[in-house]
Amino acid sequence: MKFDPALEIQNFLVFGEFGDVNPSICDSSTYTFLQANTMEGVFEGDIEGCFLYSRQWNPTSRYLCQALSRMEGGEDAQVFASGMAAISSTILELCSAGDEIICGRTVYGGTYALLANLLPRFGIKTHFVDLSDESEIEEKISPSTRLIYTESVSNPLLEVMDLPKLARLCQKRSLKLVVDNTFCPMILSPLRLGADIVVYSMTKFINGASDCIAGAAVGKKDFIKSLVDVNQGVGMLMGPVLDGFRAAGILKNLHTLHCRMQKHSENALILANYLEKTGLKVFYPGLTSHAGHSLLGELMNCGYGYGGVLTVDLGTKANANKFMIQMQEEKVGYLAVSLGYFKTLFSAPGHSTSSEIPESERVKMGINDALVRISVGLDRNMHETWKLIEKCLP
Ligand code: PLP
Repeated sequence: MKFDPALEIQNFLVFGEFGDVNPSICDSSTYTFLQANTMEGVFEGDIEGCFLYSRQWNPTSRYLCQALSRMEGGEDAQVFASGMAAISSTILELCSAGDEIICGRTVYGGTYALLANLLPRFGIKTHFVDLSDESEIEEKISPSTRLIYTESVSNPLLEVMDLPKLARLCQKRSLKLVVDNTFCPMILSPLRLGADIVVYSMTKFINGASDCIAGAAVGKKDFIKSLVDVNQGVGMLMGPVLDGFRAAGILKNLHTLHCRMQKHSENALILANYLEKTGLKVFYPGLTSHAGHSLLGELMNCGYGYGGVLTVDLGTKANANKFMIQMQEEKVGYLAVSLGYFKTLFSAPGHSTSSEIPESERVKMGINDALVRISVGLDRNMHETWKLIEKCLP
C-alpha cells in the first residue's frame, strides 16, 4: 500500500493517565529516579527511555515527536521552540568550524540571514546556488562540504526542488540532504524521497492557528540521539526545545492537518486560476503554467493538492501595496507575514519575509517589489471570496 502521512497520524493513538483521549500534559521540568545508579546510567547515555530533564525530553513533547516521525516516515524527531531553532540546531549539529554548506538561492529570508551573516562568525561558510543546476552544485562542492540545504517548495516563488535528484548527488558525495518542508506538510514526504533530515516551522500549517512559534527536525535515530546528547548535543546544550504545553496543543492540531491541507490547496487552486485569467503573472505549482507543476505531481502524496500558498505579480510596488490594503478592508484576510493560518494572510515578500536577502540576490531569484504572497485560508466558498478579491485588483 502507498505511504499516506494522514493514515500514519490517524493510527497514532495514545491515552492519557486517566484514559483521557488526549495524552496527559506533563507539567514537569525534572523527573525522579528510584535508584541513584539509574540516574548515573542515563547521564552516561547507557540507559535510554527514562526522562531526566525537560530540556532533553518531556513526555508530552515526546508524543509529538513520535507522531511527526510517523507522518514523515522517519525514525525519530525533536521539537523546537521555533522553526529557526530547528534549522539552526540541525545545521550546528552537522557542521563544525571550517565546514561548508551548499544552499538553494531561494530560501526563507531568516534562513538566508543565518547562513550568510551569522554562521560565518563561527567559521561555517555557505555557497548559495541554483540547485536546479547540477554543474553549479558540483563546482561548489569541496572536501569541506557537509550538507546541501533546500526548501522542498521555495519561498516566495514556489519553485519545486527535485529532491530525489539532490538525494542521489548527496549520496554520491557523502553529504547530508536537509530539507525545509514548511510549505508542504502531507503533500511531500522528503525523507521518503531521499532526504536525511526534514525540518519544519510548525508555526505555519502544522499548527495552523497562528497562536504559537514552534519547529521540528525529523530524521534517523542516530541524528536525534546526537542532538540530545548530554555532553555535546546542540539540542541539549543550547536549550532550543519546545515546551510541553505547546507540544500538546500542536499534537491535537496535527490530527486535522490532512483536512486543512486539502482545503488550503483546493482554495489556492481556485484563486490561482481566477488570478491567472485576469492576465496577471501567478506563481502556483498547481497551475500548468508553473515550471514545477509536473515535477510536484510526480513527487507528491496523493490527495493533498499543490499547497496553500501562491504569489502574484501586481506590476508595481504601488499596485501591490494598494491591493493588500484593499484586501484587508474587504475582510479577505490580514496584511501579515507568516502562512498556514486558517484565515488568509498576505504580504509583499520583497519588503518582509525575503528582505534579509540583498537586493542583488533578490533580483537573481526573480523577487521584486510588485509581488504579493498569499497564504490562502480555509474559506467555505472560495468563489464567493473571489468576488471580494476581484474588487481589490488595481
Ligand atoms: N522556514 C520557512 C520556509 C519559513 O517560512 C519560516 C518562517 O517564516 C521559517 C522556516 C522560520 O520559522 P519560525 O518563524 O517558526 O522560526
